[in-house]
Amino acid sequence: MTDGRLLRGRLAVVTGGSRGIGAAIAEALGRAGARLVLLGRDRAELAARTAMMNDVRGVETKFIVCDVTDEASVVNAFRQIREASGDPHILVNNAGQSAGVPFTDTTRETWDRMIAVNLTGTFLCTQQVLPAMLKAGAGRIVNVASTAGLKGYSHTAAYCAAKHGVVGMTRALAMETAKKGITVNAVCPGYTDTDMAASAIRNLVDAGRTEEEATKAITRVMPIGRLIRPEEVASAVAWLCSPDAAAVTGQAVPVAGGEVMAG
Ligand code: NDP
Repeated sequence: MTDGRLLRGRLAVVTGGSRGIGAAIAEALGRAGARLVLLGRDRAELAARTAMMNDVRGVETKFIVCDVTDEASVVNAFRQIREASGDPHILVNNAGQSAGVPFTDTTRETWDRMIAVNLTGTFLCTQQVLPAMLKAGAGRIVNVASTAGLKGYSHTAAYCAAKHGVVGMTRALAMETAKKGITVNAVCPGYTDTDMAASAIRNLVDAGRTEEEATKAITRVMPIGRLIRPEEVASAVAWLCSPDAAAVTGQAVPVAGGEVMAG
């Protein structure tokens, strides 16, 4: 490849690609030459991001409204992708939500939502792409887990359980696909500067801290001393999707400023 665009012509699906880390991943994959399909629930946000990718970045990008917790919605989205664009070469399971509540206040609804969006959504989307990847003998699956998939934090039992599940599924599927030209990895960001981190900071402010104290409380655990930037997570994802990373599978790669060691 002479222009360095290692993913030229590859079709990549990014769940939760409308904003935050997912949008940065879309940018990084697009820069590497991939064609994109972005999934999410908010049509207006997806349409705006897709227009920007096409018109400003010059990256062939489509979007489909899809709730990854809803199996029918996922099946329908991937059917549309296959019909319009062919089989995806790359799947990035990035859609996720967090909840910061003490264990005793964790309702069944919160528990189920955390598992559904972070873990079951990853399972459902992976199910949709894996058969064609196996047939092709090639594919890249990257799951955006979290440092919460490698260690515990207080007030996040449901989220930690779901993200540990994502890391476990990643490792198990990597063993099944290691000889088939498919890699399956997770990236584990620490607190990253997106709406999700902003809401974690807001929770601490609501509990009586100043914004500065809240930000410090969050970054105190991070040796790097600052929030991770979405682009830093995206760059790790893009590398894992590249041909250069063909021998890397079953890994949970922290992008966390030194907070955790690779699992
Ligand atoms: P944001 O809240 O900024 O974005 C989340 C994205 O996921 C949005 O595009 C959202 O779109 C989509 N999404 C949420 N629920 C669903 C659903 N049910 N179906 C489809 N799409 C959905 O979060 P981040 O960018 O911060 O997080 C991205 C990933 O990174 C998540 O998996 C998160 O757990 C993980 N992460 C984030 C960290 C952080 O500090 N920010 C740290 C570690 C991991 P829409 O609302 O339109 O559906």
